Amino acid sequence: MYDDIKQLIFPSRCIVCQTLLGDKDTGCLCDKCYSFVFRHHLCPRCGRPYFAGGSHCIHCEHEAISENIQITALFPYESMFRKAVLRWKYKGIRKYARGYADLFVNDLCLFEKFDIDGLIPVPLAQSRLRRRGFNQALDLTNELSRLTDIKVYDILERTKKTKPQSKCNKRERRTNIKGSIAVKKEISNLTLNNIAIIDDIYTTGATIKECIEAIKRHKIIKNKKIYVLTVCIGV
Ligand SMILES: [Zn+2]
Ligand SMILES: [Zn+2]
Repeated sequence: MYDDIKQLIFPSRCIVCQTLLGDKDTGCLCDKCYSFVFRHHLCPRCGRPYFAGGSHCIHCEHEAISENIQITALFPYESMFRKAVLRWKYKGIRKYARGYADLFVNDLCLFEKFDIDGLIPVPLAQSRLRRRGFNQALDLTNELSRLTDIKVYDILERTKKTKPQSKCNKRERRTNIKGSIAVKKEISNLTLNNIAIIDDIYTTGATIKECIEAIKRHKIIKNKKIYVLTVCIGV
């Protein structure tokens, strides 16, 4: 009864296409959007779908992602999936974080497969944080932590002003972000085995690489395996 009333007052919609969810839909997605979650034929390094043979996809041949990095994405960064992630970020629909976290944890069961002992969100610049009011990557990290009991280490910060990466071309992205992320000064003597870095969108990977370099400079990770969890990935 309560659920019926709740449904009338707060109709829950698919967090991707925004259609009303029916009784048969579980979680935060309608059946159709649920069928698009990346789960089969994925590149073991970048998590993008690929159907050719070989040990990794064509993106990884060009991008040369380190073998120690393993990316898991939920959706392609295009069409309605792109729109959804931009609504989350720019319209401040913060509850989306809970839906995305639920997919990583309860649907893809990532944390049963990976041995992760620390969750690190990609930081947002202070000026953007003030304007937006929240860091969507930290929201997602907190939701993942709530579901897994793995601790959040909000240890990174932006140390210089950069243009939004979305306004840079591929070549500019690396130079724009270079040297702009560091481990917070107050962090010392922190050692973790396997970490996961959490972000909303992965395109060229420049931001993630910058985070990894900062973490490596501080010798925070013991093992070399680094997991990256991102909602959308450029395909
Ligand atoms: Zn949908
Ligand atoms: Zn790949």
